[in-house]
Amino acid sequence: MAEHESLEFGKADFVLLDTISMPEFMANLKLRFEKSRIYSYIGEVVVSVNPYRSMNIYGRDTIEQYKGRELYERPPHLFAIADAAYKAMKRRSKDTCIVISGESGAGKTEASKYIMQYIAAITNPGQRAEVERVKNMLLKSNCVLEAFGNAKTNRNDNSSRFGKYMDINFDFKGDPIGGHINNYLLEKVSVVPSLTFVLLFVQLVLGGPESLLRSLHIQKDPKAYAYIQVGGQKKSSINDSADFKAVADAMKVIGFTQEEIQTVYKILAAILHLGNLKFGSDGDVTLIENSKLASVLGDLLSTRQENVEKALLYRTVATGRDVIDKQHTEQEASYGRDALAKAIYERLFCWIVGRINDIIEVKDFDVKVHGKNTVIGVLDIYGFEIFQNNSFEQFCINYCNEKLQQLFIQLVLQQEQEEYQREGIPWKHIDYFNNQVIVDLVEQQHKGIFAILDEACMNVGKVTDEMFLQGLNNKLAKHAHFSSRKVSTCESLEFDRDFRIRHYAGDVVYSVVSFIDKNKDTLFQDFKRLLYNSSNPVLKSMWPEGKLSITEVTKRPLTAATLFKNSMIALVENLACKEPYYVRCIKPNDLKSPLLFEEERCRHQVEYLGLLENVRVRRAGFAYRQTYQRFLQRYKMISTITWPNHELPSDQEAVKKLLQASGFEQDSAYGKTKVFIRTPRTLFALEDQRAQM
Ligand code: ATP
Ligand code: MG
Repeated sequence: MAEHESLEFGKADFVLLDTISMPEFMANLKLRFEKSRIYSYIGEVVVSVNPYRSMNIYGRDTIEQYKGRELYERPPHLFAIADAAYKAMKRRSKDTCIVISGESGAGKTEASKYIMQYIAAITNPGQRAEVERVKNMLLKSNCVLEAFGNAKTNRNDNSSRFGKYMDINFDFKGDPIGGHINNYLLEKVSVVPSLTFVLLFVQLVLGGPESLLRSLHIQKDPKAYAYIQVGGQKKSSINDSADFKAVADAMKVIGFTQEEIQTVYKILAAILHLGNLKFGSDGDVTLIENSKLASVLGDLLSTRQENVEKALLYRTVATGRDVIDKQHTEQEASYGRDALAKAIYERLFCWIVGRINDIIEVKDFDVKVHGKNTVIGVLDIYGFEIFQNNSFEQFCINYCNEKLQQLFIQLVLQQEQEEYQREGIPWKHIDYFNNQVIVDLVEQQHKGIFAILDEACMNVGKVTDEMFLQGLNNKLAKHAHFSSRKVSTCESLEFDRDFRIRHYAGDVVYSVVSFIDKNKDTLFQDFKRLLYNSSNPVLKSMWPEGKLSITEVTKRPLTAATLFKNSMIALVENLACKEPYYVRCIKPNDLKSPLLFEEERCRHQVEYLGLLENVRVRRAGFAYRQTYQRFLQRYKMISTITWPNHELPSDQEAVKKLLQASGFEQDSAYGKTKVFIRTPRTLFALEDQRAQM
């Protein structure tokens, strides 16, 4: 119910629509987009449509307009909910979180950056040097993570290939004193194809200083590297060196040592060189055709050339008590090379996140000095994905979205309705699709898809993707949200290698090809040992398990699916105990155009984000609720009925009388322990009267 906005821009809050229907919702969303109103509300949820052009709405003046204001006092904006989360944290000592969702290219990462900038801008009025330092580090850590974790895809030129949850810790004054980052599933499993799009590599090759490139044996030509694909059009530009320098500077500011930064470059260069290694054979012997590169690799990884060659060409296997070196075929060697490249990249990324955390994390000492420690978390995580070919990664990502949708249902839809029931407020139940059944389909112990996948991976001997599919068919044939060609004659499933999940956001067909490999995600112990034995201590520290010899490696590492599932469960638990704020991002078109509002495309997103249900529940509901006692504490001075004390038999009676006398009876409802007020307008009026006392 945002005031201060003319109706020519449509309704700022979807709750105010005359009738709640999809056409009305879409018409309003479209109108607002066309009038450059990219933000709207559903109650306290921000709906954002990517403008695909730079908007002059994030500057200092705008920040000042939102600072300390209530949500409804200003036109909808990310800053308003950033401020609401901040106020809840500061005034009510609540841990809060801002969950940003939407599909690739919808504007999640941009939103998370504006939110961070807002928080940075409104905190530390006293300009304490220590706090400024922390703020700077938090902002810079974003820049580093983006450089390492973003890639150009056909949907987004700057697509985050990892999910990120960042906690910012605040002291009792409400100033940032530290933070913590969790990253989820860097898209490592298919990293070799997607590595080719990581922008950082191009920045290094095109933007790195000459002397650095020389020391890394890197030529200033992206086309020279098999792992880089830039679509051919890319030429050296000032931007590349500026971008490269920005990342280097950010790492310095955060506190990476010179040695660490050098190691990072060496690792990036090593990955590029790895991609160019070629294998051939001479009779029965597999060999490296360009062995000069192996020497360069030895140099960059601080190990001997022979070690590099041996790890790439042989595999140590334990047969009973004996340990033998088994030679790879050409094909195995190429596979191993790509696996090594992606593993090195993934380790590097995790190491960077870990180092940033070491530096920005609030230490016990800080908490003692600063006292109270509350948190605002910002979650920027990949949205639902449906591609032409969907694989294990999409499966994980879509499962993640099911989990978040479930949390949204629980927090926003379910809890709201349950509270009305508990309080005995007359209430017509709003139907919504509860996706718990799909969450269970994926994650349930023993019966879920992850469990079936893990079980297949546990089998000794050669396990195939088809066997996994067979397992799915055996156990899930009757599940309403699962189908495959074997169990139904489904037109859209062309091969005997697909299965389909009916997700809350739509149907997705997954190909089982390489599910097993990706889930096992094994890297030959030889590679781990190679890197652990590096004389570069930074590199060595990334590979602690390389310490084990082949006969000691017995424990099966957790599978990728299990690790991902565990991290999602932990994430949801973490979010569930915080006060949530939501930003729902919508991508208006696939052309990155600022003008085009593709109605069908948007409607689909509105549908699967559950926005219409959200409006219905919100509209049927009440904006504000408070226990009778606390309500009186705040507002009793506005009426002689309650000031200084009331004579009525109960607080409930007193609140009723007070609201009647003030003319707000129509807008209120009385529960067992709480008073409910439907519109914020009433609340503003009460606040006004209170201020005039
Ligand atoms: P992914 O899931 O692929 O990481 P995303 O949702 O994080 O996607 P963003 O990277 O935030 O998407 O946005 C994609 C692009 O859209 C940006 O690079 C920018 O060009 C544009 N964009 C997004 N939000 C805004 C905004 N508020 N103002 C101007 N441009 C924006
Ligand atoms: Mg992103």
